Amino acid sequence: MRSLPFFCRGEVIRGFGRGSKELGIPTANFPDSVVENLPSDINTGIYYGWACVGNGDVHKMVMSIGWNPYYKNTKKSMETHVIHSFNEDFYGEILSVVMVGYIRPERSYTSLEALIAAINNDIEEAKVKLELPEHLKLRDSNFFTRFSSDLPSTTASSSQTIMNGH
Ligand code: ADP
Ligand code: MG
Repeated sequence: MRSLPFFCRGEVIRGFGRGSKELGIPTANFPDSVVENLPSDINTGIYYGWACVGNGDVHKMVMSIGWNPYYKNTKKSMETHVIHSFNEDFYGEILSVVMVGYIRPERSYTSLEALIAAINNDIEEAKVKLELPEHLKLRDSNFFTRFSSDLPSTTASSSQTIMNGH
């Protein structure tokens, strides 16, 4: 996928409450405006990378990009699980992410246990892969350090354009 690493940010919106949090794996959803800006070579499946909420610390993340059954699979969704324990929900905050690598395609599971096991494998894989020096470099990129929620959104989106265009 030529578009990786891919940088993007957007407000955290409410999902469909499909119970991710109850599984111990909450996923922060991006609005359609962010999903629609995904390059066409970014396939559905599971990705790993870095994420930061507002001006907070940068953490490892896994992201699922999938066809959304709620919209009869005509729309995609981007759901990020930040590998960190937060004290509170962060709906309405700006989530910044860089998608670094691809783990696997989407799959359907016969049991909840199998699904949870697969996600936990993805998390372990993300943790290990992100320790590579070339990936650690992205954690420290200007994309995360330069962002301030005080900036007008045009400034935030132009920094996104600059990063993706190198
Ligand atoms: P929803 O259907 O609204 O997305 P979830 O059960 O998937 O509900 O929970 C997602 C919400 O949980 C996020 O929007 C965020 O506010 C909160 N949250 C707390 N911890 C995390 C985390 N580590 N990663 C992602 N979201 C988290
Ligand atoms: Mg969710």
